[in-house]
Amino acid sequence: MRQEHIYRAVYPGSFNPIHYGHIDIALRALRLFDEVVVAVYVHPGKVDLFDADERVALVRESFQDEPRIRVASYNKLTVDYAREVGAQAIVRGLRVFSDFELEFRMALANRRLAPEIEIVTFISAEEYLHISSSTIREIASLGGDVSSMTPPHVMAALQRRFAELKAQGSNSSFMVSLND
Ligand code: ADP
Repeated sequence: MRQEHIYRAVYPGSFNPIHYGHIDIALRALRLFDEVVVAVYVHPGKVDLFDADERVALVRESFQDEPRIRVASYNKLTVDYAREVGAQAIVRGLRVFSDFELEFRMALANRRLAPEIEIVTFISAEEYLHISSSTIREIASLGGDVSSMTPPHVMAALQRRFAELKAQGSNSSFMVSLND
């Protein structure tokens, strides 16, 4: 019997929240891979603007018409997660030179840990270069328009979340820190 080979990539990140830059990378990865697992990393003990379930739900809704994209959360080494789901590659996106140093170091470390898994890096499309989750959180927290950066369901979730925080009288600034 002929064994079908599935080429699968994991696209890991915080996705806090997902935006058009992430979506573009995942869709471009689908040109190279049969399946892309968009994997939401859950930082143990970290309080985020959106919890893991919310982030996963927002990512899932972004790809609801894409049967070759799977969405899940994980909280282990990315290479271990990639092995667990049977992925041959880890996909990352690069925006600016400052991303490069971290990605380069992570790629070398991951290669040491799992030489059988390739790191495949996509250069951001020009129109999405300026977008990051932290910029979106900051603009949305101040009531700004993020409609060019993230889909409508994410915008609605941001509005809801900041309204909740306001109603609770919480200081939301720690959730919009410039660190992603
Ligand atoms: P992290 O928490 O590791 O920074 P993110 O959720 O911010 O993860 O992003 C996941 C991946 O998507 C990273 O490889 C990041 O560089 C990439 N990425 C984020 N924003 C963009 C963008 N605007 N264009 C291309 N790639 C991006």
